[in-house]
Amino acid sequence: MVRTRFAPSPTGYLHIGGLRTALYAYLFAKKHDGKFILRIEDTDQTREVEGAVDIIISALDKAGIHYDEGPIVGGEYGPYVQSQRKDIYLKYAQKLLDSGDAYCCFCTKERLAEMHEKGATKYDKSCLHLSKAEVQERIARGEPYVIRQNIPESGTSTYHDEVFGDVTVDFKDLEDNILIKSDGMPTYNFANVIDDHLMGITHCIRGVEYLMSTPKYNLLYDALGWERPVYIHLQPIMRDSQHKLSKRDGDAGFEDFLRKGFLPHTIVNYIALLGWNPKDNNEKMSMNELVEKFSIEGLQKSSSIFDEVKMRWLNSLYIKEMPAAQFHAAATPFYNEYYPNRNIDYAYLSELLQSRVETLSDIKDRAAFLDAFDNFDKELFVNKKWKTTIDMARELIDDCIACTNADDLNAALDALAERKALKKGQVLWIYRIAVTGAAATPGGGAEMVRLFGKTEALRRLEAVKNMLG
Ligand code: GLU
Repeated sequence: MVRTRFAPSPTGYLHIGGLRTALYAYLFAKKHDGKFILRIEDTDQTREVEGAVDIIISALDKAGIHYDEGPIVGGEYGPYVQSQRKDIYLKYAQKLLDSGDAYCCFCTKERLAEMHEKGATKYDKSCLHLSKAEVQERIARGEPYVIRQNIPESGTSTYHDEVFGDVTVDFKDLEDNILIKSDGMPTYNFANVIDDHLMGITHCIRGVEYLMSTPKYNLLYDALGWERPVYIHLQPIMRDSQHKLSKRDGDAGFEDFLRKGFLPHTIVNYIALLGWNPKDNNEKMSMNELVEKFSIEGLQKSSSIFDEVKMRWLNSLYIKEMPAAQFHAAATPFYNEYYPNRNIDYAYLSELLQSRVETLSDIKDRAAFLDAFDNFDKELFVNKKWKTTIDMARELIDDCIACTNADDLNAALDALAERKALKKGQVLWIYRIAVTGAAATPGGGAEMVRLFGKTEALRRLEAVKNMLG
């Protein structure tokens, strides 16, 4: 059975590159009726951030990437948090020590620094040659030590990656990296191998930064007599042709995009396409369609550039097709942020805005008219296209008030235009400006009266009457 995993480190932030890795691992597992596992890689406790695991779990949940095994839900291969598996790693480290595939290293920071100062590019294996007796004695004395992987000094290793093809690495370019730190915690380099094997991971999908270190992991699989997983390394998501989309840009996190008003599924759908080509040209896909169409063959060897304009376009398609109540629910936090506690019919505002925004944060500009009335400039009545003037507004204001009191506002405005021999557009322009004080509104005067309520509309028209004198 196919088993894939997403193995983030809890840094308090889910980069969309990480989310895409999770997505591909999820899609691949679901496509093959397999299982998708979440494993928290928290062995570097200096990097750990409080609440970070919850951030990852909640992001995956919002994105619709549901894991079958992992923290909270559990599973038969748990625990799924590496810091809770410390003893497991030590057991396998001991096996590697016994077979000579690893060794204890007592070198101090100072010695290592001196070695590097003298030009060494990697550890010189000096502790490999300590006698068993000396090792025992130093351990017994309480000397701090790490366990290092014993990598052959010459030769090469080749493995197959599903995206990059055959990858060959010269052993002399690899360092005897640390497997177990002096505090007994494993490094990523060790824990990923042990856990992928023990958790039955069949396909290891992760960032391309691990492409060249995978031969080290393969040596560990071989030394422990384990089958290697299938490897699928992914290119990063780029900001432009030179730079990765990074946290430093301030907008590379899943939550950042939610705050910008993208719908969770838009983000998922869009990042699915950044690094994977569906066979057909249909780019808008539900999660089920993504599962159905996803294939490893479609993964790109080259990196892709993130294009927010395109994601906005996709988001607008998803927004337009939302049921009204769902759009209103999604828009409400944005009203609360930008225009809270206005005396308006917010659900009706949602009806007006749904077809007019690409992202939910566009609400800020699209609904700016809500605050326009209090300091509007009567010059707004002057419109070149409609040839309207302030005098025309002054002359029509009593009629505007009368129309607002009529049972059928639209019919009354029609009749007014006819009576005054004006174009309908002229009357509508003046009416809408008089009710809102804004040149851009989502909908015309009648919609604005419905939004603010008749009483408020009349109050505003009276104020305009005073202003015009
Ligand atoms: N914890 C690693 C990271 O966050 C995971 C790499 C992997 O998937 O093996 O980069």
